[in-house]
Amino acid sequence: MTNKWKQGVAALLFAATLAACSPQNQGPKLFVMDCGSLTLKNIAGFGLTNDDTPVRTLFVPCYLIQHKGKSMLWEAGLPLDFVGAGKVDLAALPGAYVEYAVSLVDQLAGVDITPADVDYIALSHLHFDHIGAANLFAGATWLVQRSEHEVAFGERANPAFVPQYYSALEAAETQVLDGDHDVFGDGKVRLISLPGHTPGHMALALDMQETGKLVLSGDLYHFKRSRELKSVPVFNHDVEDTHSSMDKLETLLAETGASLWIEHDMELARTLKKAPDFYQ
Ligand SMILES: [Zn+2]
Repeated sequence: MTNKWKQGVAALLFAATLAACSPQNQGPKLFVMDCGSLTLKNIAGFGLTNDDTPVRTLFVPCYLIQHKGKSMLWEAGLPLDFVGAGKVDLAALPGAYVEYAVSLVDQLAGVDITPADVDYIALSHLHFDHIGAANLFAGATWLVQRSEHEVAFGERANPAFVPQYYSALEAAETQVLDGDHDVFGDGKVRLISLPGHTPGHMALALDMQETGKLVLSGDLYHFKRSRELKSVPVFNHDVEDTHSSMDKLETLLAETGASLWIEHDMELARTLKKAPDFYQ
């Protein structure tokens, strides 16, 4: 090889290395964390009969998204009081219990992140199994739909919400949203407004370099069977809005070719890479 050629090859390698390291060329990273499980005796409340599916245990996830040097927590899991307490019966749901082995905080520490490092917090909605550690993230900017925010606190709080676990967010820097929102401004991490389960319920749409397009469902569907039957839980805020949101999401999935992860799907969750491993 002539010197000129060597220089040319070296320059190419250098350019390739630069491109690989360049933040513009990197999509989001997604860490999946196990923030507990919820086991039910009776699933009639989900608009299904007990014969529709044998599934009784729901996975409770938390996710950390890193992109453009910033991070966002999506979902805050079960309340941290349950960590290490074994099977804890839920008084409000006869025959139901929760389990939560390793706290979200310890799982974040496994990827060298503390709650104070997190820039944004977004929750699909404010039910108790999505907000458990939220109070620790009051230093982050809270991304929340106006309709959810309006019934989050005080006398107007939705009776299905448990504000004690997210009360600190009332003082957090808050970005109130009216519909879909592009978190990092490049279309790679988008909050999708899907009201119905609660007034301001959302899903999260990701566009990753290797994994491709992926939507995290929130609670639009709890079971695979819910999606097949378009079943609406009896505790949903609005049936019509839920159906419109199902149509909106199914259209988005069909148009973009994105995969859907039903967040509570335990069978799926067992197959997923967990933090510190990640998707990108
Ligand atoms: Zn819910």
